[in-house]
Amino acid sequence: AHPGGASFRIADCNQANPPLSPHLIPILRQLADGRFHSGEVLAHLLGLSRATVWQALTDAEALGVRVFRVRGRGYRLESPMELLDAAALESLLGEASPFAVQVLDTVASTNTHLLQQAGQGAPHGSVVAAELQTQGRGRQGRSWLTGLAGALTFSVLWRFRGGVAGLSGLSLAVGLAVARACEQLGVAGVKLKWPNDVVHDGRKLAGILIEVQGDMLGPSLAVIGIGLNYRVAAHVLDAIGQPVVDLAAIAKSLPSRNAVLAELLRQLSDVLARFEAGGFAALAGEWEARHAHQRKAVRLSLPDRTTVQGIAEGVAPDGALKIRSAAGLLQFCIGEISLRAA
Ligand code: ATP
Repeated sequence: AHPGGASFRIADCNQANPPLSPHLIPILRQLADGRFHSGEVLAHLLGLSRATVWQALTDAEALGVRVFRVRGRGYRLESPMELLDAAALESLLGEASPFAVQVLDTVASTNTHLLQQAGQGAPHGSVVAAELQTQGRGRQGRSWLTGLAGALTFSVLWRFRGGVAGLSGLSLAVGLAVARACEQLGVAGVKLKWPNDVVHDGRKLAGILIEVQGDMLGPSLAVIGIGLNYRVAAHVLDAIGQPVVDLAAIAKSLPSRNAVLAELLRQLSDVLARFEAGGFAALAGEWEARHAHQRKAVRLSLPDRTTVQGIAEGVAPDGALKIRSAAGLLQFCIGEISLRAA
């Protein structure tokens, strides 16, 4: 558990759900312009003590937000910060959008939160985005780290008439939507790694976690979790155990965070409509065109701890990975399989 001191390490955030000060995001909204704000004025404006403001901003540093304090001038962020804004998102998305977006300051996991809401009847198209996930999840219990406001971390609820059996390939379809959104925003060179990662030059830019519920024959629902690195603090990136990258490092000009989320949702609604109409088969060609390992040597780690080596030959209409190995052409379904360059 969080030791309760003035600061905690990033690693703790995803392991122990530390008590993030409920005042932090309201304080950051005031500081977002990157200018100096006096601690006294901030405290007065938000009805807090100056010590509470100080403590909240001390915690923010551990979450990847650098704050400068200058005697006589107050607090200033190292650089201006753009927080998510549900009203701005709504207007960027337009009236025809199937999404209703809820922005949370902090949540353990947007997927867990939306799965609970789905169980209570939340409608198709519900979106939950959070500035900070304290227990962000990857596949098989792995953690997802981003710090505060450094990424787009959100989940989308999509209800399908068909059953869960028809949802194989969904995580590939979602990856395609993320890659397309990046391209639309002027970020070139974004590739897809089977089954659920979005990469740039071998470094991970985004991850996808899909959790499905329902009957084999329908109806069913999917909670689609997406984490896209936007501008992640260096010490958070260092804490992740594999090569990672953020949009700030690869975009010629970094689009606004709200605009990135809006574009991701726009592409998602298009891809999901096509997926519903024709399954992944309708999208497989577009996926393969962005496949990071197409016709390259790869190694698969299977759940029984054995490995398979071969040449990645692309994806089948149901999203299975095709590998040409010494034993011939094999197909692997998305399960607990991990792919790496050989
Ligand atoms: P697989 O190839 O099996 O999907 P993976 O390592 O990509 O393996 P995921 O479950 O997709 O696994 O993602 C979780 C992993 O992603 C973590 O174990 C960590 O290595 C990495 N990770 C965590 N946070 C981030 C982040 N913000 N950006 C990129 N990668 C991250």
